[in-house]
Amino acid sequence: MIQRPRGTRDLLPPEARLWQAVEATAHEVFGSFGAEEIRTPIFEATELFVRSVGETTDIVHKEMYTFSDRKGRSLSLRPEGTAGVARAWIENRLEDRSHPLRLYYIGPMFRYERMQRGRYRQFAQIGLEILGADSPLADAELLLVLHEFLTRLGFQDLLVHLNNLGDPEDRPRYLEAIRTTLRPYRGDLCTDCRRRLDENPLRVLDCKVPRCQELAAAVPPVGEVASEASRRHVGEVEERLSALGIPFVRNPLLVRGLDYYLRTVFEVVSPELGTGAVLCGGGRYDRLIADLGGPAIPGTGFAIGEDRLVEVVPEHFRQQVLARPRLYLIPLGDAACGKVLELSRQLVRAGVPLELELGGRSLKAALRRADRDGFRAAAILGEAELGRGVVTVRNLGTGEQQQVDTSRLAAWWFDRIAEQH
Ligand code: ATP
Ligand code: MG
Repeated sequence: MIQRPRGTRDLLPPEARLWQAVEATAHEVFGSFGAEEIRTPIFEATELFVRSVGETTDIVHKEMYTFSDRKGRSLSLRPEGTAGVARAWIENRLEDRSHPLRLYYIGPMFRYERMQRGRYRQFAQIGLEILGADSPLADAELLLVLHEFLTRLGFQDLLVHLNNLGDPEDRPRYLEAIRTTLRPYRGDLCTDCRRRLDENPLRVLDCKVPRCQELAAAVPPVGEVASEASRRHVGEVEERLSALGIPFVRNPLLVRGLDYYLRTVFEVVSPELGTGAVLCGGGRYDRLIADLGGPAIPGTGFAIGEDRLVEVVPEHFRQQVLARPRLYLIPLGDAACGKVLELSRQLVRAGVPLELELGGRSLKAALRRADRDGFRAAAILGEAELGRGVVTVRNLGTGEQQQVDTSRLAAWWFDRIAEQH
């Protein structure tokens, strides 16, 4: 028996319908704010991620699926979406288009993670980038779009955690502050953090080991060494959020797991997910495109974990999506089977969601099945009905049964069944 690789999932019906609905909402909300979808490859040159996400981040250091193709080129499955968007932006000369450009993506990402709840090796992200705008207004708009999207899904109790990472010029001072604070406790840190303290001290603040988190709490806030300009920037983002009534808190330990962020960084946490699993993360990355060899174009973006999102999507949304009513079309006998596809074509063209009985069940067995699978109504087409141009319809909620003209079937569905829900 061949099984799926560890950390991957089969999204089965009706769960997959929730994913469709979440994605449809993303297309709609992001589109309303002027964003356009971009689809970039699922694998890229390994160097792209090394140079953008950062060589010493966990993602690149130990989570990437890297392989050589038949010509010996090093390729990696994408662990995140922003690097590919930035590469595409440079390669396709999107600087020639009018700015800013709002680009969003939806698709699978790959990271070799240790298995635990809400953590997969193939997972999906829904991300939005605003490229070509350096003002705090862009960060605030980004958070507004995110907030609208989550609100549309029915979320109410989400909190934005926000921090100021300062400018790249402030970074060496901050890294020194982290080293100075933590060096005396080096022996108490986890093995990874001991390496991080040398290679990339910022990443210690991101560690999920409780002891490391306790020690990291003593590190002074980045804000203390951050440039005046970056403080003003993040301060303005906060003002805009306050004005919109979007709840947020300053979290001085929030650094995010990617090296390209500066100034504004944020996460959205959901009480249902617990503290270990973040729903969404993002921030500003004004140097990324230039670092990859493109022009100096600022950017800001977020990525939502779609698996986690679907897991905690509010019950009302879930119910609405899963309770989609359908009509069960039951042909009885050969003559009816000859006509029933034409009837389903007519109904579907009229907008009636249906399912055709193909298994040749008896009427009794078909009605039992209809009940079990939550159909709202059944339409029975037998010899007698065929002769008279009618179908027998049955409201499976009330048990009420009657005959309607075949041409009136769609109208009956909309008036008597769909309207009632
Ligand atoms: P975490 O702290 O949970 O490891 P991260 O900081 O690595 O998350 P990002 O790189 O910012 O995550 O990705 C954005 C979002 O993608 C996360 O907030 C999360 O919802 C989702 N995500 C990241 N890694 C995974 C994974 N292995 N499985 C499922 N979702 C994930
Ligand atoms: Mg991670």
